[in-house]
Amino acid sequence: MKEPRKIILPESEMPESWYNIAADIPGGLDAPLNPVTGQPVGPQDLAPLFPMALIEQEVSTERHIPIPEEVRDTLLAWRPSPLIRARNLEKLLGTPAHIYYKYEGGSPAGSHKPNTAIPQAYYNKKEGITRLTTETGAGQWGSALSYAGALFGLEVKVYMVKASYEQKPYRKLMMQAWGGSVVPSPSTETAAGRKILAEHPDSLGSLGIAISEAVEEAVGRDDTHYALGSVLNHVMLHQTVIGLETKKQFAMAGEQPDVVIACHGGGSNFAGLAFPFVGDNLTKGTKYRCVAVEPASCPSLTKGVYEYDFGDVAGMTPSMRMYTLGHDFVPPGIHAGGLRYHGASPIVSKLLNLGLIEARSAQQLDCFKAAVDFARSEGFLPAPESSHAIRAAIDEALDAKVKGEKRVIVFGLSGHGHFDLTAYDQYLSGRLENYELPEKEIEASLKVVAKMQPVSVS
Ligand SMILES: *Cc1c(COP(=O)(O)O)cnc(C)c1O
Repeated sequence: MKEPRKIILPESEMPESWYNIAADIPGGLDAPLNPVTGQPVGPQDLAPLFPMALIEQEVSTERHIPIPEEVRDTLLAWRPSPLIRARNLEKLLGTPAHIYYKYEGGSPAGSHKPNTAIPQAYYNKKEGITRLTTETGAGQWGSALSYAGALFGLEVKVYMVKASYEQKPYRKLMMQAWGGSVVPSPSTETAAGRKILAEHPDSLGSLGIAISEAVEEAVGRDDTHYALGSVLNHVMLHQTVIGLETKKQFAMAGEQPDVVIACHGGGSNFAGLAFPFVGDNLTKGTKYRCVAVEPASCPSLTKGVYEYDFGDVAGMTPSMRMYTLGHDFVPPGIHAGGLRYHGASPIVSKLLNLGLIEARSAQQLDCFKAAVDFARSEGFLPAPESSHAIRAAIDEALDAKVKGEKRVIVFGLSGHGHFDLTAYDQYLSGRLENYELPEKEIEASLKVVAKMQPVSVS
């Protein structure tokens, strides 16, 4: 039989439950701590920000959590997503490796982010909330949440990092088309924003600042909650539909991946693709290698410290034990805007610390080279974030070629790059540069971590 080019699952095969890896992590997770008292955060601390259903998921150790019917029905508009064999890319590389990619760019917002935006909007709506605030860097999360808000009748207010607000008018327009309101951050609408502006009137913002603003507004209003597009446990959980589908698709293809690769910003698309495979490693003795790829200019996993730190600049969020570059760290303006975050998912961090997954970093120019090679062989124009995964997949395929191995590689193509054409323009005209993060700068920012005593969840 001819080897398949594209593996499509029928609707009935879309998962009915999310996979919660917290059930299988050796030693469990470390509790998030209250930023003021240093005590474990309880449900009451989080209630001003999130609906109880999401707080329960955040601390749950149930292995399988059912996907509500209404959420599943909404996701079915574009799920299950295709798993595609990159046969043309394999030819281009002359590799004996088999390369597959799981394409998440077919969602309405063009990335994996609606996989969690939809359930988050659903649970908030169910709890009687009418408004959501959030932050967005490149605009991917803001558009995903605006779309979800439109479907569930919620008002969505997005604090958009000012640098992107000015450079990326199309993402902003997309949010507005779905009814979201978009404010450049730092703004004068919150105390956190006003404080930054007083000290740095020209500040172009950062995700950490925008989170402080969105959290402050949500805490101050009863009708409003906050939604985060990555990092938190419930977000990792919602994204596992990606890997659960991928496992079924490989079963259909009649082979198994040796290496599972995804780019890493806060960790959600990596978690989504990789956790179901890591879970099999933990419970069934399989040996999938799972690799997270981050930008060399924002290297939380590869150069950060594994400590308690805040999720935002102002220190308003709970302190979480994670790989962090320090909550003051403002990453350089690389084009993979969705990967510019100082910290990492606590679960991804724990798995890395235990040696259960791998992490590596890649330079901007090498990633764009990989993205263009991919676009010219496979056709899809990748998001700059996703190009980090492509870089690592190509490197694995070339390594397999040198060693004469038939390695099976799967990577997450987390989104399309249709709103990132300015970046492609810069790359193609030779104006794009690598950004070497000076060791001194990392050393300085690493001094600004919260560092609290770990408390494990019993
Ligand atoms: C936001 C984003 C990422 C990075 O976020 P994670 O939470 O690490 O997945 C990666 N790819 C795309 C296309 C994104 O929009």
